[in-house]
Amino acid sequence: MAKIPRLPPKNPRLFRAEVVRTERISPSIHRVTATGPDLAEFPWMGYDHWFRLFITLPHQSTLRMPEFTGARWWYPYLAIPEVERPHCANYTVAGHRPEAAEMDIDFVVHRLPTGEVEGRAAIWACAARPGDELAMLDQGITFDCPEDASEVIVVADESGLPAITGILRSLPRHTVGRLIQEVPTAGDRRDLDAPAAMTVTWVVRDDAHAVPGHAALGELRRHTTVDTAAYAFIVGESGLSTKGRRHLHRAGLPKDRITFTGFWKHEVRQPA
Ligand SMILES: Cc1cc2nc3c(=O)[nH]c(=O)nc-3n(C[C@H](O)[C@H](O)[C@H](O)COP(=O)(O)OP(=O)(O)OC[C@H]3O[C@@H](n4cnc5c(N)ncnc54)[C@H](O)[C@@H]3O)c2cc1C
Repeated sequence: MAKIPRLPPKNPRLFRAEVVRTERISPSIHRVTATGPDLAEFPWMGYDHWFRLFITLPHQSTLRMPEFTGARWWYPYLAIPEVERPHCANYTVAGHRPEAAEMDIDFVVHRLPTGEVEGRAAIWACAARPGDELAMLDQGITFDCPEDASEVIVVADESGLPAITGILRSLPRHTVGRLIQEVPTAGDRRDLDAPAAMTVTWVVRDDAHAVPGHAALGELRRHTTVDTAAYAFIVGESGLSTKGRRHLHRAGLPKDRITFTGFWKHEVRQPA
């Protein structure tokens, strides 16, 4: 496999934009499309290219961004008085069209047991209107497949679907491997532009009370042997990523051939 250019950039650039349109692309995924002159210059590299997303909270009318140089954005961000501080969350580039200066961001619409949408970013996305401001701080690619990988194993819950879509689309067409992709409902499955020799397994949860990632982990555990020269990328709820990594390591894959990231953490809810 050819070497993949890898960031994070030393001096990550901030891109300002505004919402141009939104669309519920499947039952659990809400797409926000952003535009603005900055986005024509976004250095999209495909794969799981991600960024820090800055958005307003419901009580804020303007997006107040931290002033910073280099990579040190966190302390200037925290220095903004809490009432004016924008919300920051991590998201993946779902699509980029430099000629139109547009970027797509796919938000998982996750809900409380009452059915209400929860999560500051998810709520923002579902309510977003043309003209709403946002900003992105480029963070580059995490996918780090060694050039000698014999096969590529990718596993995710729905929060990793944009990353997985980008990785499969970007992989060299001769790549051999497998994908285990969990989604909340059958309607969240989508066409993937995967190399022909990648086996794609969709795991449909279909249970609003199940912890996301658990079913994908069960499917991964069915694979008891792994080629020691493979490479694995596991993202999603933190239990999926940490337990998935442990399983693959026990099955023979060296730790330095596994990239795993907890995209979010399930919180056990106390009964009301
Ligand atoms: C590198 C990276 C890339 C990511 N890319 C994407 C992406 O493209 N699309 C995407 O949807 N997410 C993505 N995520 C995950 C996203 O950052 C988290 O889900 C984040 O918590 C969402 O922020 P929020 O403000 O909506 O929720 P918060 O306000 O932070 O959380 C509120 C509550 O929602 C719960 N929660 C958060 N996320 C989920 C979820 N997915 N399902 C169920 N419950 C949840 C939390 O446990 C918490 O109880 C990515 C994460 C990382 C690290």
